[in-house]
Amino acid sequence: MNFTRRLTRVVNIGGVPLGGNFPVRVQTMTNLPTSDIEGQVEQIRRAVEAGAEYIRITTPTLADVEWLKKIKEKINEHPEDFVVSDGVPAFAGMTTLRGGVVIPLVADVHFSPKVAIEAAKVAAKVRINPGNFIKSDRRVVIPAKAGSPSLTTKSTEGDTYLDQLHSIMRPLLDTCKEYGTVLRIGTNHGSLSERILDQYGDTPEGMVQATLEAVRICQAENFHDIVLSLKSSNVKIMVEATRLLVKRMDEEQMDYPLHLGVTEAGEGEDGRLKSAIGIGSLLVDGIGDTIRVSLTEDPEFEIPVAYGILQASRARITRTEYISCPGCGRTTFKLQEAVKKVKEATAHLTGLKIAVMGCIVNGPGEMADADYGYVGAGPGKVHIYAGKIAVLKNVAEEEAVERLLEIIGSAALR
Ligand code: SF4
Repeated sequence: MNFTRRLTRVVNIGGVPLGGNFPVRVQTMTNLPTSDIEGQVEQIRRAVEAGAEYIRITTPTLADVEWLKKIKEKINEHPEDFVVSDGVPAFAGMTTLRGGVVIPLVADVHFSPKVAIEAAKVAAKVRINPGNFIKSDRRVVIPAKAGSPSLTTKSTEGDTYLDQLHSIMRPLLDTCKEYGTVLRIGTNHGSLSERILDQYGDTPEGMVQATLEAVRICQAENFHDIVLSLKSSNVKIMVEATRLLVKRMDEEQMDYPLHLGVTEAGEGEDGRLKSAIGIGSLLVDGIGDTIRVSLTEDPEFEIPVAYGILQASRARITRTEYISCPGCGRTTFKLQEAVKKVKEATAHLTGLKIAVMGCIVNGPGEMADADYGYVGAGPGKVHIYAGKIAVLKNVAEEEAVERLLEIIGSAALR
């Protein structure tokens, strides 16, 4: 039952480190045209206020890189409005503001190597999609640099493709090295290359292979500031592909951090449930270093859901955790009202686990690893628990919340 997070290498994304023992980071993506500078900056402001730690912006063309530059400039006019408060400035040379750093921007490029190179000079991280990345250069045969490490041993059509991909990626990796930019290799189920599709079909295996091909190119160029993601709108595929990737990485002693997300998850309850299942399943496995909940809603609405998933999977605790039973015939007090009152009184106690249970018959046993318990003991009576021990018995319901707070307070003083 002990939660063990898969230990990954740390990459520094604009002063907000990712991986290792750093908190699982929360990110979102703006949904306006990149040219809408004011709109972008306003969305970013709202997302940062909600708790976003990286912001991704679509950057498909060179013109968009220019807009991205302007967005960054605009943010830097009032950096105090865009501070990631718990971004640990663990790396030298970082601009820090009031104990935090200015929100790092991520360029979502997908296709064009030329654009990716320019974006890497502006953004803290660049996202490419290996399935799309070579497509735009497909008709251009780029000879491999003399003496460059060959990634394969046999001369097949696949070799030509990989050599081309290597040649296309090399200048990007050089730029990333020069500017300290992180690269996300983000493979999507819906955009695998024809070559991968021919060989593996649109399977988790195909997604893993497409990702590892690009990873090996990074390794051959001695570039390790990478983050990987395997996304799908099909939750089962996303989970299976990511687990498979971790297995393959373990076999090859790779420790690159992972970005988790369910693409096109939808909106409202549907989107939240799909994201919770996909991202949450992997988090409870100890997999994942940053998450994005993709909703068909404005970015700031994704953030509380992301933190909720992290809390529920106990991957990152940012608030009080509550355990409460549904109530049944054994419940002898107003359980729903009691839960509300206890939550209001203890919402500031980040990290504590507090149970509100309907009866002393099953409540104490069922409240699992709660630190404190508020358990119905009879009509209008409550027992207060500290761990598994009833420290106050038969407290009148009206004063039970206050007594619970006293018990928590006295424990804190000890
Ligand atoms: S803990 Fe008690 S009151 Fe709550 S559901 Fe279980 S049996 Fe019913």
